[in-house]
Amino acid sequence: MSFNYSGRVVGVTGAGGTAGIGFAIAKKFLESGAKVFICDLNEEALNLAAEALKPFGDVRTFKTDVSKERDVKTMFEAAYKAYGKIDVFVSNAGIYPQKLVCEMTEQQWDTVMNVNLKSVFLCAREVFHYMKDKGGVLINAASYASLMASAGSGAYAASKAAVYSLTKTLAAELAPYNIRVNGFIPGVIETGMTKGVIDEKRGELEGAIALHRLGAPEDVANAVAFLASDEASYMTGTFMEVSGGKLCVQNPHMPWKIKEEQ
Ligand code: NAD
Repeated sequence: MSFNYSGRVVGVTGAGGTAGIGFAIAKKFLESGAKVFICDLNEEALNLAAEALKPFGDVRTFKTDVSKERDVKTMFEAAYKAYGKIDVFVSNAGIYPQKLVCEMTEQQWDTVMNVNLKSVFLCAREVFHYMKDKGGVLINAASYASLMASAGSGAYAASKAAVYSLTKTLAAELAPYNIRVNGFIPGVIETGMTKGVIDEKRGELEGAIALHRLGAPEDVANAVAFLASDEASYMTGTFMEVSGGKLCVQNPHMPWKIKEEQ
């Protein structure tokens, strides 16, 4: 599906590097004609992304820690100064530390909550100032872990469950301002975040997915481009699951086995 975002301004957090979901989202919007600003905590990754995105259109970068109020304010002030408006904002940045809950320090717990959850609050609150007169679209990254918790990443799952809930509340609170708020739920997408776990058990992960394959960042970017579009103008407070049918049934192997035997 192709989209026309000419004249629109789109921001994406956590879009550093060239292998992540944020980068793919930024690229999709640029290819669709939008002006895009991206941010990341990692400056080297941000520069890498900027170089790779330049051929596709007008892109600006902001080194930003999305868990810090001052950084978030500065990013939006600078973006608004540069473009005069912000139409779409995607809160994509996130971290996924593997740690048993009872082995976590208070600081480790707080870091997960601050980066994955507080950032969504800070970005929504700040971008609201710039969207409230003209309307806009916010899109937040949840996770499969917001629907089904996961041993070894309890803080991550809790933070994403809270993002799921916060997205719905924001959808209701911002509806009078013509601001739609939705989210996406990736299944297992091949990025830097999931490399370790995929290297360890690719077959097992693929086996739990109806389509029997892992996802690419572009699969998520396509869904985000749709959610932000006018074609989705009656969608708010909802999530698009981009998972190839992960865990949609308890026995995804069965139909594949039957087909093999035919
Ligand atoms: P990734 O690790 O490839 O990219 C995340 C980016 O966020 C990195 O560039 C990182 O530097 C940046 N970041 C981290 N902390 C930051 C901070 N404080 N401020 C600014 N930037 C910061 O991850 P990804 O796989 O592309 O995931 C993108 C989003 O999708 C995340 O929210 C993640 O939780 C969610 N998600 C991913 C998957 C998956 O399978 N990859 C599954 C479910 C949910």
